[in-house]
Amino acid sequence: MDAERNFAFVDLALTNSRYAPQLKEAAARVIDSGRYLAGEETAAFEHELAHALGVTHCIGVSNGLDAIRLIFRAYIELGRLAPGDEVIIPANTFIASVLPVAELGLRPVMMPASDRDMNLDFDAIEEYMSPRTKAVLLVHLYGTPCWRPDVCTSLHERGILLIEDCAQAVGARTEAPGLSGGHAAGGLGDAAAISFYPTKNLGALGDGGSVATSDAELAKTVRILANYGSDRRYHNLYRGYNNRLDELQAAFLRIKLRDLEAEGERRREVAAAYDACIDNPWVTTPAIFPDMQQVWHQYVVRSPYRDRLKIYLESCGIPSDIHYAVPPHRQPCFEGFFADERLKRAEEMADSVLSLPIADLSAEQARHIASIINRFKP
Ligand SMILES: *Cc1c(COP(=O)(O)O)cnc(C)c1O
Repeated sequence: MDAERNFAFVDLALTNSRYAPQLKEAAARVIDSGRYLAGEETAAFEHELAHALGVTHCIGVSNGLDAIRLIFRAYIELGRLAPGDEVIIPANTFIASVLPVAELGLRPVMMPASDRDMNLDFDAIEEYMSPRTKAVLLVHLYGTPCWRPDVCTSLHERGILLIEDCAQAVGARTEAPGLSGGHAAGGLGDAAAISFYPTKNLGALGDGGSVATSDAELAKTVRILANYGSDRRYHNLYRGYNNRLDELQAAFLRIKLRDLEAEGERRREVAAAYDACIDNPWVTTPAIFPDMQQVWHQYVVRSPYRDRLKIYLESCGIPSDIHYAVPPHRQPCFEGFFADERLKRAEEMADSVLSLPIADLSAEQARHIASIINRFKP
């Protein structure tokens, strides 16, 4: 730990300093090109990302929330979903997973996450399903793939859409194949939404996102919707949006995409160091799964004394954060919307989670933080 410098939970200037010369060169190239939207950088990035995810189509869009909204809206336009249809969503997630579903008149059905991996609880999913269940949102929370092949295949065979919220898991992989045989998170289900919010593992220098799918019809509909609903110049098939990715962000993302595998590897080393060194009866470390390549967007421990642990760490100069302290169903915007006693369990989980530093950390720093955690007494 650099004692001279107060280190922050995230420090984007530090993150991006590793790429500074290439980013500046790319910015100059785009500025000089005079082409700022729908140009070569975006097309190339879409192609490169699709290749990395093992899908046939990626569509660069404005952000992760819009990517989720575009997928659901496109399925509605294609007649695959209709307002009132139920969508199962894990209750322990970022609110952007839920907002577009509710906004489109679909019915989000929240269910508490599994204790095992803090992802969708496949063992309990049937309890939350009804004849109106038409889609499941698989959130790869914290960078751990949310994929159980037997359950997912059976849902797929029943005509239920499997949509991935891959905002936190670009670069993650599963040994078990997805619906079309791929192994990368973002290429497992019917369609995936990705976020390039600056703190994400593949972070832009502004907003950005992508839809990934191997369904050509869906891809075409998403692309039209994201461009005012226009299928050809001055012809509007749908009441669409303006949800485009811009050339500058695409150029930046192409540079950082090349380093994504190494970034995931570095995070796995940090997670392994935490896992090997944290040894405190009041602190539970997250599971590391040998049949998955996790990318550790967050490294989240759990403790019944979470708040005290957070204050203790702060007093030792170690920043931490909580993802997410208030689950979406408890937010004021959803007051009275979800009335399900079973969601109490999701609130208990939200009360116990604490995210340790991982962005730009070294394994050595993680061992040092672990030694501080090991001295924590509630
Ligand atoms: C970040 C995030 C989003 C939203 O992405 P934005 O690009 O910020 O709109 C959606 N879902 C999850 C799980 C996220 O972490």
